[in-house]
Amino acid sequence: MPGQGSENKKLTLEEAKKEIERLRELIRYHEYKYYVEAQPEISDYEFDMLMKRLEALEAQFPELITPDSPTQRVGEQPLEGFPTAEHHPPMLSLENVYSYEEFLEYHNRIKRMLPGEKIDYVVEMKIDGVSIAVQYENGIYTRAITRGDGYKGDVVTENIKTIRSLPLRIKETRFVEVRGEVFMPKAAFEKLNQERAERGESLFANPRNATAGTIRLLDPKEVARRKLDIFFYYIFIDGDYPRPTHWENLQLIKELGFKRNELVWFCESPEDVLKIWEEWKDKRDDLPYDVDGLVIKVNSIEQQKRLGETAKFPRWAIAFKFPAKQAVTQIINIELNVGRTGAITPVAILKPVKLAGTTVSRASLYNEEEIRRKDIRIGDWVVIEKGGDIIPKVVAVVKSRRTSKEKPFVMPKRCPVCGAELYRPPGEVIWRCPNAACPAKLKESILHFVSRNAMNIEHIGEALVDQLLKKGLIKDPADLYYLKKEQLASLERMGEKSAQNVLDEIEKSKNNDLWRLIHALGIRYVGEKTARILEEHFPSLDALMNASYEDLIKIPEIGPKVADSIIHFFKDPTNRKIIEKLRAAGVNFKSRKKEEGPKPLEGKTFVFTGELDSYTRAEASALVESLGGKVSSSVSRKTDFVVVGRNPGSKYQKALKLGVKILNEKEFLELIEKTKKSS
Ligand SMILES: [Zn+2]
Repeated sequence: MPGQGSENKKLTLEEAKKEIERLRELIRYHEYKYYVEAQPEISDYEFDMLMKRLEALEAQFPELITPDSPTQRVGEQPLEGFPTAEHHPPMLSLENVYSYEEFLEYHNRIKRMLPGEKIDYVVEMKIDGVSIAVQYENGIYTRAITRGDGYKGDVVTENIKTIRSLPLRIKETRFVEVRGEVFMPKAAFEKLNQERAERGESLFANPRNATAGTIRLLDPKEVARRKLDIFFYYIFIDGDYPRPTHWENLQLIKELGFKRNELVWFCESPEDVLKIWEEWKDKRDDLPYDVDGLVIKVNSIEQQKRLGETAKFPRWAIAFKFPAKQAVTQIINIELNVGRTGAITPVAILKPVKLAGTTVSRASLYNEEEIRRKDIRIGDWVVIEKGGDIIPKVVAVVKSRRTSKEKPFVMPKRCPVCGAELYRPPGEVIWRCPNAACPAKLKESILHFVSRNAMNIEHIGEALVDQLLKKGLIKDPADLYYLKKEQLASLERMGEKSAQNVLDEIEKSKNNDLWRLIHALGIRYVGEKTARILEEHFPSLDALMNASYEDLIKIPEIGPKVADSIIHFFKDPTNRKIIEKLRAAGVNFKSRKKEEGPKPLEGKTFVFTGELDSYTRAEASALVESLGGKVSSSVSRKTDFVVVGRNPGSKYQKALKLGVKILNEKEFLELIEKTKKSS
């Protein structure tokens, strides 16, 4: 590595000056390699050593410190505020289009204004950040100004200086202004929000808000910690574009050592632009920073000048936005949703808004605590976001839009459906409706009863259940087995044929395996897996109903909480009544498991990791257990087989380390088949 060999002997001022210059040059080079090109040539440690050496020398010779020294990125003094400065030319924002049709309209407009001329476009990513103008005089960084209203912005020189990819000195002595977008990389954003959550501070809704907030901090040290970055896309030298095309100016930006986004395309037709848009509207999620669309600019500066601008926008550029993942809308009301177990979920009723292609009018607020933490009030404007879930969530409140007419949410004392007094078990955040006969719970419990992993009765969806309840045709899940064809056929959107289909499905379910019935009953803490385990240990529903707490707790997988819940459930007279109705209807109560079948996998322990294609985890476990094997949740030397599905977890690594036999899904299924045949 160059730069070594400077011993700590006393230097004369002249020697120190030379050494300091040498170190700065080196540090600038390595900063560029690391922060701009992302191709470091030396280790972080070596880099730190260069910085330390420079700092030490500058401490010894403070008269040699200059503002463009790499040690001067982070100012020691807090700022007192931000003076304003004007932009020449103004920093206009861009007009947005949201569809190809709109973009074509734009293209045709340009064509009409430049008849018969060839129009080339340069396409860039639209970075979701904060626009900034950065100035250099005599090759030295002097000033940074936010976009502000486009004509006037805040001078945030000290804060922008902390961005490590920004050169503090360039090889161009004329007056240079570069413009670009400051942004917070996604990773830095996640980390920042995590730290804020730990300190109980409010969270930023997205990286752009975090960037805007950070740029205006009065403490440059805190700004430096937040790891902003910057991409440049315009350059003016002595007030004008230095080269005749945008493409060439982008080239110059790079040549002068500025960071530029490498995702730029040269397009000769609107179809080319569309291709890029189509490709990146989904792929953008893989980028380490947020982008919200493409920016399309007419390449020729001469054409740009002739096109000029309107009062608001340049005519020679446009933003072609990607479908939004976030939207801002107003909370009209907060309602309560009652789940099957009586869990109460507050739901925000929203002024309908378009989001990622659908109209959204509800968002989950999770629980009372969450509402308090985010300080969400009725009437608030909020940022909503669509993640992987169907129902979007409220990310943050736009507090600047408060009018003081917003109403804080007060958790109702009573169930909105049945009026029963709500209760909250100690230590939990969720309120519950305790009424077993609550109609809201009833609806959810029927939907659970018919669901795929329970009784698996097809053709019975939410709309049908609503109608059945409204007409009083069912009052509990057992009533499904007493429905008559005429009753069903008389319902809306239900003909003779559909009615028969529903009845056939119901009839078929009478023959289900016992675990399905156990699961369908909706005993708290008894999911599919536990239901299967219970069937293993009890030959019939009656045996389970008559089991004592001690009987249940003897089963290794059943803990006190689950045992308690089962006992409690079967003691309840309402539940007993439903069970007797099911029995009378002819629903199967008996286990079909062989009483004492052969156990060819006896003594073998299996561990599953990742998802299988042909079975759920519970089904695969049941398969192993039905052959006498054991399923464990963690890998040890005693494990016989680790079955690895898609997206396996750390158990896979551990199995490799311990040398445990690993089976893929196919091998696992073959083993099961072979075992079944031999038994
Ligand atoms: Zn209720």
